Amino acid sequence: MGSGCTKPGRGGVAPCVALDAAQPFDFESKKQKEKNDLEAPAEAAGPVPGNQRDTDCDVPKLKIGVVGFGTFGQFLAKRFVSQGHTVLATSRSDRYQDLAKELGVRYFSNVDDFCEEHPEVVVLCTSILSTEQVVTNFPFLRLKRNTLLVDVLSVKEFPKKLMLRQVPEEFDILCTHPMFGPDSGKASWEGLPMMFDRVRVNAENPVNEERCHNFLRIFEHEGCRMIPMTCEEHDRQAASTQFITHTVGRMLGDMQLESTKINTKGYESLLNLIDNTCNDSFELYYGLFMYNQNATETLEAMERSFDRTKKRLFDQLHEVLREQLFGDDQPEHILKQQKKLKS
Ligand code: NAP
Repeated sequence: MGSGCTKPGRGGVAPCVALDAAQPFDFESKKQKEKNDLEAPAEAAGPVPGNQRDTDCDVPKLKIGVVGFGTFGQFLAKRFVSQGHTVLATSRSDRYQDLAKELGVRYFSNVDDFCEEHPEVVVLCTSILSTEQVVTNFPFLRLKRNTLLVDVLSVKEFPKKLMLRQVPEEFDILCTHPMFGPDSGKASWEGLPMMFDRVRVNAENPVNEERCHNFLRIFEHEGCRMIPMTCEEHDRQAASTQFITHTVGRMLGDMQLESTKINTKGYESLLNLIDNTCNDSFELYYGLFMYNQNATETLEAMERSFDRTKKRLFDQLHEVLREQLFGDDQPEHILKQQKKLKS
């Protein structure tokens, strides 16, 4: 994308759509060194397993910056690289340097350096709990003024409000939730749900429209089921689907269930559920609870339902015991109830 001011934008004012931030004096030489460092070992190491180039990919190439290079950030970055996009990443420490190199990602432990690379799209992959702090302290002014900011948090109303509050007006905002992870999306993303809400995309600037469209095409190309939905509706539905799934997975994980020789299909799926949920960080699970207003109600509904189910079992057991103890020598209403249970 070139620099300069283009067509009139919102409100008829000509917005600067690609005004570069000032570069430090050693910018060019640093860039060249990073490029050399990245290319040499990646080529020597050969293709990374599961990271082969997708030579059929017709998605226009983007320069994508990933903020938060943990489990999910790496998982996305790998797929972006395989489609031929230029991928940069930043996280809290230097410990991802080697891994990033292996994946073909340029890594910056300094967030200012990351921003000065001017990615067209910045994808926030930080934990739910840390995102407020990360966004509040992020040096947005070092990015191009017109950048697309995307988040992938598993809760949606919270980052939407946060970004609308904190992100400079010139930036576009796309809230997304790829509803899969390194386990469920290990081999293929075919048919997996990808929720998105175009919270703020400048419809008057075709460049912005196209960039947002192209970013979403990354997921379309992988065969994801694209689901436009508001962030509010996402959280309502996620509380009774995703949060329940994670809670049941955590409870079963806590019971330390083991595989046996007589596993049924149903039991196998419970063991898979444990794998699919307990491999995620507890921080992620806590975030699903803490930052979705609907989660408390879901947790209480689960507890009530567990109590009702348990009560049905114990009521029936008590009836059987009473019958054994007293036979027909019981009050009329209890005898009636026992008849009903038997029928
Ligand atoms: P996570 O534990 O939710 O997040 C880990 C990431 O958050 C790491 O990059 C970590 O940085 C960063 N982080 C944690 N505390 C931080 C702090 N105080 N300041 C700055 N960064 C901090 O695990 P995750 O699975 O990678 O999830 C990342 C995001 O993706 C979450 O918002 C999650 O809801 C979303 N998501 C995850 C999945 C999934 O299947 N895992 C699926 C869809 C969406 P460092 O690595 O540098 O410590």
